[in-house]
Amino acid sequence: MKRSRNETESPGAGKPAMLESSVLSNASMEELVREIIARIGEDPEREGLSQTPTRVHKALEYLTKGYHEDPHTLLNGALFTVEYDEMVIVKDIEMFSLCEHHMLPFFGKVHVAYIPNGKVIGLSKIPRLVEVFARRLQVQERLTTQIAETIQDVIQPQGVGVVVEARHLCMMMRGVEKQHSAAVTSAMLGVFRDLDTRSEFLSLIRQKAPEHY
Ligand SMILES: [Zn+2]
Repeated sequence: MKRSRNETESPGAGKPAMLESSVLSNASMEELVREIIARIGEDPEREGLSQTPTRVHKALEYLTKGYHEDPHTLLNGALFTVEYDEMVIVKDIEMFSLCEHHMLPFFGKVHVAYIPNGKVIGLSKIPRLVEVFARRLQVQERLTTQIAETIQDVIQPQGVGVVVEARHLCMMMRGVEKQHSAAVTSAMLGVFRDLDTRSEFLSLIRQKAPEHY
């Protein structure tokens, strides 16, 4: 997968552009959400909405907590030296993220595989790695690439394959291309670029009961 430098860098890693000269820069998140509620024509004071700014603030903090987690630190604490050179697969990892274009959810399944080259990652860390990148404002393509490249960087395996299948509420709820709203992206590095390895991975992740997400 070819990509520009920009796409592989963590968005938000640089200095955030705050509204420095604006009165908004001193507003709390709660005040900003309250303003949005008012702007869409609602009454932020009515009973059902009065606590909403606080809840939205907390929800947004949770849904973007990946910005405060370092994927390398996460994995470096769980590396093991193992004589094993067959494919390791963790599939059907549940993923929930926010699209960076509309800040609406996209969600689905992530399948991760790699062939070790002396080191393996503790299995439970793979879903955690997915979460570190999913809990940010994302595009599905970059999410896919970041998961693959981080594993490649940290354990230098023979290869990594990542497939993400997701549905985007910004397409489904707004009625855009409803029938085609499930998107599949993949990143194949190293030996996963070989047809045989890639085919083995893809056939292994297809071995599952039909399910809905
Ligand atoms: Zn979107």
